[in-house]
Amino acid sequence: MSELKSWLSIAEDSDFSIHNLPFGVFSTSDKSPRLGVAIGDQIIDLVSADQAGVFANLNIPPAVLDRPYLNDLMGLGKIVSLQIRNRLQKQLCDTKSALASSAAVFVPQANAKMHLPVQVGDYTDFYSSIEHATNVGKMFRDPENALLPNWKHIPVGYHGRASSIIVGGESIRRPKGQVLPKGASSPSFRPSQRLDFELEMAFIIGKESSLGNPISTREASNYIYGMVLFNDWSARDIQKWEYVPLGPFLGKNFASSISPWVVLMEALEPFRVSGPEQDPAVLPYLTYEGAQNYDIDLEVGIAPQGESETIVSRSNFKYMYWNMHQQLAHHTVNGCNVRVGDMLASGTISGPTSDSYGSMLELSWSGSKPVPLDNGSTRTFIEDGDRVHMRGFASKDGKRVGFGEVSAEVLPSLP
Ligand code: MN
Repeated sequence: MSELKSWLSIAEDSDFSIHNLPFGVFSTSDKSPRLGVAIGDQIIDLVSADQAGVFANLNIPPAVLDRPYLNDLMGLGKIVSLQIRNRLQKQLCDTKSALASSAAVFVPQANAKMHLPVQVGDYTDFYSSIEHATNVGKMFRDPENALLPNWKHIPVGYHGRASSIIVGGESIRRPKGQVLPKGASSPSFRPSQRLDFELEMAFIIGKESSLGNPISTREASNYIYGMVLFNDWSARDIQKWEYVPLGPFLGKNFASSISPWVVLMEALEPFRVSGPEQDPAVLPYLTYEGAQNYDIDLEVGIAPQGESETIVSRSNFKYMYWNMHQQLAHHTVNGCNVRVGDMLASGTISGPTSDSYGSMLELSWSGSKPVPLDNGSTRTFIEDGDRVHMRGFASKDGKRVGFGEVSAEVLPSLP
């Protein structure tokens, strides 16, 4: 069991335990969007906490807390966020603290609206799950040689679009686009009939690098602020017709949903595990030391409109073949720089078994195996009115650190 005991009542199974303390941006009917930290079913309003003297002597510029995004706080260096987190952790365990005597600092999560926590600069999506890449290769290329020759040598990725990254809770609209109907020789323009989710996690850059200077795997952790759950919405029929030869475009950039609470890497420290063995050996700039994967349980549920949810997949972030340090080292090895607020997503996180795949494309095996839902219906892809939920948490030795959830409802295409 943990040695930290708060005077605040926190449910045993809360994702937002005293060991977590993730950062986000919230507002209420009488509070403008500002920074907060989640604890149990409450939010600590960092502006009010600062005014109540909770951060005395830390010399935090008050303006960075009264912002609708985390970027300015992140820009001060991660040490400042860690000082805030440490101070809150201490005072949450001290009945005589400034925090304990300032009830007005706490806002019930049920009364708050969550906002996109960061102004996202550049967004990159990787393709780092060997199970996912193998499944896609089997379906669309060669079942015998599913992985392309570069896959075990390069953390494959592409540059996505930041403008359409939205916070969980916001609905998305089914995209329209060019598709090539089966057997047709010319394309049609229509609503996507193969709308899919991708179960991913993303890390957020908290320190800028300079153009021309690669970040090594050894230095990578200094640049990674924290993580969120990431649903990389995908229109498979649009993607299939457009992707040759330059890769994903409109089949991907219409929306990606992220969870509102940013979990700092320090909170995930107890959940580090070794990654899979990499064979063949990687080039020297991609080698790394230590356990750089994380044991984070993930799940995806689908709730048809007005109905209860069916869990369709359970996966784990530990399955990633390429870890975040390798991804960042590869991304910058040519001199490409990163900036505070950049977001780098993992790629679909599929596990080894057919109930752990991270997309409907794989779960329904390209539409050939309908996935049963509890209400008696089935899904090959996502239908209008469906709400897709993703959740993630790590748990060990009585400590639980979770991400809450990211969910979004799919609205019909515009007429
Ligand atoms: Mn993706």
